[in-house]
Amino acid sequence: MELDLPPETSEDLFCPQCGYNLRGLSSANCPECGLALDRADMLYSRLPWTHRQRIGYFRAYWRTLILGTFKTPDLANELSRPVSFRDAQLFRFITIAVGWVPLAIASLILALVFQKQGTFIWSGIGMNAMSSSVNMFALDVLWPLGAGITVPGVFPLSLLMFLILLSGVSSYFFHPRSMAPKLQNRGVAMSYYACAAIAFLPVMLLIAGVATAIANTDFADTSFGFTVTAILGMLAGSAPLVLLFIWWVNTLRLYQRATHATWPRTTMVAALLPVLWVFCGIITLTFITWACGFLLLVVQSLR
Ligand SMILES: [Zn+2]
Repeated sequence: MELDLPPETSEDLFCPQCGYNLRGLSSANCPECGLALDRADMLYSRLPWTHRQRIGYFRAYWRTLILGTFKTPDLANELSRPVSFRDAQLFRFITIAVGWVPLAIASLILALVFQKQGTFIWSGIGMNAMSSSVNMFALDVLWPLGAGITVPGVFPLSLLMFLILLSGVSSYFFHPRSMAPKLQNRGVAMSYYACAAIAFLPVMLLIAGVATAIANTDFADTSFGFTVTAILGMLAGSAPLVLLFIWWVNTLRLYQRATHATWPRTTMVAALLPVLWVFCGIITLTFITWACGFLLLVVQSLR
């Protein structure tokens, strides 16, 4: 059966299965891999976020969030359709904000509440380091670090930079030069949509809040109450790891679909990604905290 060609076929169209450029071709099947082609399906984006002006920002965002977190195969299908790079960037930064703002507010409150204790800790570290002859590690590393943690705003700032770095670093794998530039763009955009899991980070606060509330009641004194509180606490603590894991799996699935990478290559990326993430974490969380603490100590010593 010969398909009627829409006028847009003069555009670059890529085979959903193998990425072959179908521009100027009118065959019903991909000449490279033989897949039956539905050209009309490949012309327009199905991403809810792309249609946000028509269906409303909230609905479009929420649906894309579900797509990026739990329906990666559907998200991957977008690789064979036009993708707006700017839309993907916007989605990425909104998602970072959604995940970050509640945590930033909570950590600011905690920092203000515990500032006195915090100051006590870091001045204590300094005193210990001074008195126990010369412990350069404690003096140079731990002291500024301890001081930095207590500065309100340092943790939120580090976390924000961490999330921005994290959501950008995987895109590196999505544009191998062997791919058509348009497909490289789509790959990078898709890697941004994969960061959707970040938006669920505040769930951790919610669970921790419930655990704290229960812990302050008589119910927590019973053995059942204690178990419930402990389980909730563990859930809250492991939530970021679970979200990171979902993000990691989604990124790998998209990576394989976007680049048609071989299994050894995908395995390599699977191993490399957590290493890069840890590296980003060390740079942002540790270094920014340390630098702010160092500045604080310098300012204090000048007084
Ligand atoms: Zn094909």
